[in-house]
Amino acid sequence: MLNVTLVPVLDDNYAYILESNNQVGVVDAGDAVPVIHKLDELNLTPDVIFNTHHHGDHIAGNDALLEKYDCDIIAPAYETERILNIHHAVKDGDIFNFGDEKATIIHTAGHTTGHVCFWFKKAKVLFSGDTIFAMGCGRLFEGTPKEMFNNFQKFNAMPDETKIYCGHEYTQTNGNFCLTVDANNQDLIDRMKEVDIFRQESQPTIPTTIGQEKKTNIFMRAKTIEEFTHYRSLRDKF
Ligand SMILES: [Zn+2]
Repeated sequence: MLNVTLVPVLDDNYAYILESNNQVGVVDAGDAVPVIHKLDELNLTPDVIFNTHHHGDHIAGNDALLEKYDCDIIAPAYETERILNIHHAVKDGDIFNFGDEKATIIHTAGHTTGHVCFWFKKAKVLFSGDTIFAMGCGRLFEGTPKEMFNNFQKFNAMPDETKIYCGHEYTQTNGNFCLTVDANNQDLIDRMKEVDIFRQESQPTIPTTIGQEKKTNIFMRAKTIEEFTHYRSLRDKF
């Protein structure tokens, strides 16, 4: 069992609190204050902090959490200079035991060089950081469209029921972009109606699922690197 609690932080980031068999984890605390508040509310003490990548809006809460709790940081081995105090430096294919569950580390370069996703296969849960978003794809700050396309092929191969917990609430803008290039996709049209209602009420649209993304995310639907690259460049100007 893996229990996931979503914690909104900063403007549009999501941190997550994980529980499995008395182990407690935090994913990407961009700000420690709301995370600590939620941990207190749930009466939990974190054992481990999972970091997907080095950007401040994902790691800025690390120091305050380390100061307050006796916990370890698990983060990409490529980022030991940009993420400090890593206890478990992980690479592609590594397995990290967490409670009853195991996180498989997937190196997903593109948004940043060292970016990793944490895939809990048994629980069918993916923490995707800034790679795949609901109906979107992370910006390519340090990588190539080819790298990101390859990441998306790995996501495409995961079971449809896999829940995706990504790093930002970008769903409405992403979906509106998808509509500009995939206007006749009825699944996309239907999904956007739901998303618009959720956002009107300031409700999170996360998690999404691999199955939902296969139907509606233009980057997931791109069949070739060329097609993917074209959409990514259009999205940069959207
Ligand atoms: Zn980022």
